[in-house]
Amino acid sequence: MSEFKHIETKAIRTQNGKASYREHCAPIYMTSSFTFEDAEQARALFADEIEGNIYTRFSNPNNSEFVEKLCLLEETEDGIATASGMAAMFSSMAALLNSGDHVLASRSVFGSTHQIFTQIFPKWGIEHTYANINDPSDWEGKIRKNTKMIFAETPSNPGLDLIDMEWLGGLAEKHGLVLNIDNCFATPILQQPSKYGAQIVTHSATKFMDGQGRTIGGAILGKRDLIDKIRFFTRHTGPALSPFNGWILSKSLETLPLRMERHCENAMKIAEYLEGHEELESVKYPFLKSHPQYDLAKKQMRYGGGLITFVVNGGLERGQRFLNSLEMLSFTANLGDARTIATHPASTTHSKLSEEDRKVVGISPGLIRISVGLENVNDILEDIVNALNASK
Ligand SMILES: *Cc1c(COP(=O)(O)O)cnc(C)c1O
Repeated sequence: MSEFKHIETKAIRTQNGKASYREHCAPIYMTSSFTFEDAEQARALFADEIEGNIYTRFSNPNNSEFVEKLCLLEETEDGIATASGMAAMFSSMAALLNSGDHVLASRSVFGSTHQIFTQIFPKWGIEHTYANINDPSDWEGKIRKNTKMIFAETPSNPGLDLIDMEWLGGLAEKHGLVLNIDNCFATPILQQPSKYGAQIVTHSATKFMDGQGRTIGGAILGKRDLIDKIRFFTRHTGPALSPFNGWILSKSLETLPLRMERHCENAMKIAEYLEGHEELESVKYPFLKSHPQYDLAKKQMRYGGGLITFVVNGGLERGQRFLNSLEMLSFTANLGDARTIATHPASTTHSKLSEEDRKVVGISPGLIRISVGLENVNDILEDIVNALNASK
């Protein structure tokens, strides 16, 4: 596909051919349909005998450029751009699963993915079982005759627990299952699940890929035969990405390698500084030696990621006071932004879970999640430390 060797170059130099204006930056193809040269070309396009754009619900040059870059970064054969991360999660499963099939998933999945498993798939007779992300011995025994897919996120949100993808890829292969990894947290810059046997890699592009909190988008990448089946599904059910968002996301990928390096460098410095702070019970970050899966993190991740968590002394109320004391950090439900974001899962995103369920996914009342941004690391740290002191 690409003659470029390194991810930074692939992310920047993979581009659609120039239009007649010889523009340097890609134009935005805001068009719902494309004209046919003649009757024969139209016939051949619809018969899938030649490649080309027909209608933006099927494909669009901006979305194709975005996906082509992502395939190079993830080292996958083919891909589809979707309107959101959830459109990617849903379509990648709904297209490949039939009524009566079963999915084995990590309990630590994104909230809306959990809703798909528990509230939506049962309507069509698609079953699921959750396995413990921290206990590999919990998985194999839960595979059934009708299991078709394994679905997991690593690192998990907000627990920052890891799954050994090499081991999970081996388990999927042994039982002939499709392994589907939501790689949103790590991005292909930190890890490429396809190298460990994931046939499908799913993304919310809303997070680090956009990187500046502007768009909602997603992608499904993987083996061509599976992507063809999913493409049939998305083509006819319609979760197409807007070309404008496809353009933003393709431009954003140009700086993804550089941004991820800085996100991770800042996160590492903050995690190291905060570890042992007297107002904190604990600090968790995959590249801290104190992380229970430090060796695994070093094995399968290039850097430690852009998210850190810590537990403040004083539980739920202290957590809320901490957030109210922040002056610069953003208080919002997103992550992966140039601006550092703080969230308090126990009182917001995960407040509907029972105390017991929160424990299972690693959320204690005083847990704070920080999505470390690209501001000067000293400014980020100063705001966090000031808020810790002010919220005593
Ligand atoms: C945000 C997120 C999603 C959902 O993506 P949207 O773009 O919001 O639809 C799925 N998985 C993970 C891990 C996420 O963080």
